[in-house]
Amino acid sequence: MASLLGATLKAFRLVWICLAITLPSAYGFEKRSYEYKPEDIITRDVCIIGGGSTGTYSAIRLRDMGKSVVVVEKKDVLGGHTNTYVDPATHIPIDYGVIDFHNLSIVTDYFTRLNVPWTTAMFPSTQELYVNFNTGKVVDGFAPAGQAAFAQALDVWISHLEKYPYLSNGFFLPDPVPADLLLPFHDFVKKYSIDALVYSMFEYRQINILVQPTLYVMMNFNLDLIQNILNGFLTTASHDNSDIYRNALAILEKDVLLSSHVIWTDRDSSSEYVKVGVETPSGRKLIQAKKLVITIPPKLSNFKGFDLSQNESSLFGQFSNVAYYTTIVKHDGIPENLSVVNIGPNTPWNLPTLPAILSIYPSGDPGLHEVKFSSPYELSDDAVKAAIVAEFNQLHTGGAVASATTPEFVAFDSHTPFEFSVPADAIKDGFYKKLYALQGQQRTWYTGAAWDVHDSSLLWQFTETLLPAIAA
Ligand SMILES: Cc1cc2nc3c(=O)[nH]c(=O)nc-3n(C[C@H](O)[C@H](O)[C@H](O)COP(=O)(O)OP(=O)(O)OC[C@H]3O[C@@H](n4cnc5c(N)ncnc54)[C@H](O)[C@@H]3O)c2cc1C
Repeated sequence: MASLLGATLKAFRLVWICLAITLPSAYGFEKRSYEYKPEDIITRDVCIIGGGSTGTYSAIRLRDMGKSVVVVEKKDVLGGHTNTYVDPATHIPIDYGVIDFHNLSIVTDYFTRLNVPWTTAMFPSTQELYVNFNTGKVVDGFAPAGQAAFAQALDVWISHLEKYPYLSNGFFLPDPVPADLLLPFHDFVKKYSIDALVYSMFEYRQINILVQPTLYVMMNFNLDLIQNILNGFLTTASHDNSDIYRNALAILEKDVLLSSHVIWTDRDSSSEYVKVGVETPSGRKLIQAKKLVITIPPKLSNFKGFDLSQNESSLFGQFSNVAYYTTIVKHDGIPENLSVVNIGPNTPWNLPTLPAILSIYPSGDPGLHEVKFSSPYELSDDAVKAAIVAEFNQLHTGGAVASATTPEFVAFDSHTPFEFSVPADAIKDGFYKKLYALQGQQRTWYTGAAWDVHDSSLLWQFTETLLPAIAA
């Protein structure tokens, strides 16, 4: 009898919990069942998809609000667009992704929580060489807008920003949406004669702002940003922004599943939990959480396996994005204090035609240069590297760069998809009202750059406003 009981208990121990799960994928419905061992089932208050800027912030803050969390991140590090290259020879860290933060208490409180000392961001003063990268020739006589013209245009811009205070924490637009916000930015520039601002705005945004509805330029080139440009940004004292995410990982520890991706979700509202199937380096896991926070870029191809509603699919399907790449190259032909800047000598407001290198900027580490490359469409990493090499060759052929050396890539990252937007007509038709109405539906909350602005500090502010409902 005892041995029969023992065998039965043993058998029970061996029986894995079998869950037959309906898997509505983004592109159709399929049914699949998978057996999860009890130790592979993770039960938490909140599951966060994406461990970049807003995902990590959400995880730390929710933990501090007494909630249990788990983060699913596809890369092997936290931090999203944060990239730091540490030169093995000099040990100098070079942030070639996210560089600076606003001087706001939300930033300093977060850094204090993570035990990351901060300082005022200082940018090396460089000499700028304006070059037409198509020809490799220096553009003689080109000079950016003079100080007086710039200041005057900035005043005009600020006076427009002040008309739309509701843009300070997201796309909270009135109905009807003010016509100026819907104007293609090149029309807005002409209408209000703010020509002197355009190149600087482009240098900051690094994408083709001229074709965007003015709303996006206002969201990005906002009052808080201008205040920080004038008064100084913050950065980590170590000049290694990856410290933020290393320290966050040390706090979150096993509540982060790195190198992992979602294979299915089931957000059936009649169930006690949102269920998320995840492929991890140590096998498949089942996450059961009371709430789901999605921070990944809302591109339909990024939601493979998610049970998106028709409404979610239809809204996310309206987004388009551009592409952006950053790299550090070794090159002996560019002086250490020289920025080589791409301009279009004959284009409106001298913006370069993309895809192209935007600038080659000193890294602060001798012989290494930061190269930023922007494209209106996505390219493979190899295609971007080939284009960068071709442009360096052109710079040599045209005479802007003395050395014919081929640049050696010591670090490279694709920040694609970058900058989500929808057409002016969709904005006019209440796209963002419909998008924000998704918050809380099917126990799911969304945050991240597409929901507000590509700016970590302001995104932490935006995310903070969602936390009380997520933690409730
Ligand atoms: C080159 C560059 C420089 C920048 N510099 C600054 C700066 O100096 N200051 C500043 O404030 N802002 C800067 N920004 C903007 C800022 O980085 C972004 O606004 C911010 O990172 C957006 O946060 P997020 O959480 O939306 O996305 P991310 O930080 O990109 O996080 C998204 C995370 O989700 C992960 N992920 C994606 N898909 C999946 C999936 N299917 N499953 C699991 N995980 C997934 C990604 O790997 C990533 O870690 C910069 C952006 C770029 C591209």
